[in-house]
Amino acid sequence: MACVLQIGAGGVGGVVAHKMAMNRESFTRIILASRTLSKCQAIADSIRQKGLGEIEIDSVDADSVESVVALIEKYRPKLVVNVALPYQDLAIMEACLRTKTHYLDTANYEHPDSAHFEYKEQWAYDTRYKQAGIFALLGSGFDPGVTNVFCAYAQKHYFDEIYSIDILDCNAGDHGYAFATNFNPEINLREVSSKARYWIKDIDSKKVDSNVESNSLVSQADLALNPDLKQDTIYRKFERDEKHFALDSNTQDLKVESYFNGQWRDIAPLALMKEWDYPEVGVKNSYLLYHEELESLIRNIKGLQKIRFFMTFGESYLTHMKVLENIGFLRIDEVAHKGGKIVPIEVLKTLLPDPASLASRTKGQTHIGCYMKGVKDGKERTIYIYNICDHTACYKEVNAQGVSYTTGVPAMIGAKLICEDKWGLNQPKTPNNADNSDMPKGGEYQGIDNAIEIGDTNPSGNLSAKDI
Ligand code: NDP
Repeated sequence: MACVLQIGAGGVGGVVAHKMAMNRESFTRIILASRTLSKCQAIADSIRQKGLGEIEIDSVDADSVESVVALIEKYRPKLVVNVALPYQDLAIMEACLRTKTHYLDTANYEHPDSAHFEYKEQWAYDTRYKQAGIFALLGSGFDPGVTNVFCAYAQKHYFDEIYSIDILDCNAGDHGYAFATNFNPEINLREVSSKARYWIKDIDSKKVDSNVESNSLVSQADLALNPDLKQDTIYRKFERDEKHFALDSNTQDLKVESYFNGQWRDIAPLALMKEWDYPEVGVKNSYLLYHEELESLIRNIKGLQKIRFFMTFGESYLTHMKVLENIGFLRIDEVAHKGGKIVPIEVLKTLLPDPASLASRTKGQTHIGCYMKGVKDGKERTIYIYNICDHTACYKEVNAQGVSYTTGVPAMIGAKLICEDKWGLNQPKTPNNADNSDMPKGGEYQGIDNAIEIGDTNPSGNLSAKDI
């Protein structure tokens, strides 16, 4: 049906190429290009060995707009799937604009010199893309990507309004190394060591229970008598947070310290930890991080008052990261070395295991979900939608570990919908016409639709958060 050009032949790139090769009715011609041709060759060989036919390969420096334009003009694809690094997003988007070619990626643009990432520069293409009659699908991985789909699905089917969302990303897999990262080490370590942030909105007095005064929410005595009160009365509406509530020294009551309206709250990297009890995986320490889908979800979820993102890390990972940070190995600026210059995090990337090489040795599961509180037909409800993916099964299917797999499959699905004209400029923002009967073939997408209701109607829904 369509010719597709994929740029990037790393861990995620391997999955995307294999999954596209399994869906030949949508992707009639597949070209895989990357900086290192041998990596493209290895993926093409694996696809052939699995009996999935031939793909074409090429090399490109995707930092150069001109090189990407030349590549696109050589093959004239309908869509460019960008699974290189976030640094290349703008160059590839610009090349797609110049050649009037649809665009898809899985990660937000990042400038190499700053670990700050936001959608501003990519969203700035919106008008020019529309004028050119082309479509860009940004962040079509798992998180961002499927997490956005889970929230959109919940908004459509489970809630009239969603007050709060916690996105939970847990990799319960074990690769046997003391320290390694599951995707590109440079991108991963920049993300984790950056300042954390979450978004919270003004308290809407209409949503405060009539029997609770807005500036005297709950007394210490009430809390002592009924520990659930905090959960039911405060957490349900706008979760207690020490920064925003203070203890009145005279009455010992908790009082609202400040009101705020749709603000980002910054906290130090890895400073806020919660224990989440993940269904089928168990209790894991989960740390608040900034993640790019928060920026798009606050614009699209009705009634949202708070959104956060948590990721699990083991003790060994955190200890190594702290040491590396303390000795300067996470620095992203140039430092003088033996008469030349090096960027410490790039050296570290060279020393660490290639994430793709973890695939054969990783056992266990990934677990990512969205924990949402809101209201439906006037009743409060809490829903958790999640996906579980088994590392070993991913390796068996496409030679990849679960993190690459859960990113690559949604990228292929987005590409398929665009190539089939089911998602594009003239289609609704969410592809309503993509129902289950339309799911891509070639290996099932594991556990896409686990949804549990937490509370009385489903007491087995055991997800809980323990405050620290
Ligand atoms: P890898 O480092 O394994 O692969 C990156 C690939 O991009 C490599 O083939 C690399 O080539 C290539 N590349 C890098 N620079 C250039 C360039 N200038 N020109 C052409 N090719 C280049 O990364 P991953 O596969 O782990 O990640 C791919 C993307 O997926 C990243 O953007 C990452 O942030 C994103 N991601 C998204 C997730 C989500 O859920 N949304 C989760 C995980 C990752 P070479 O081998 O020569 O260096």
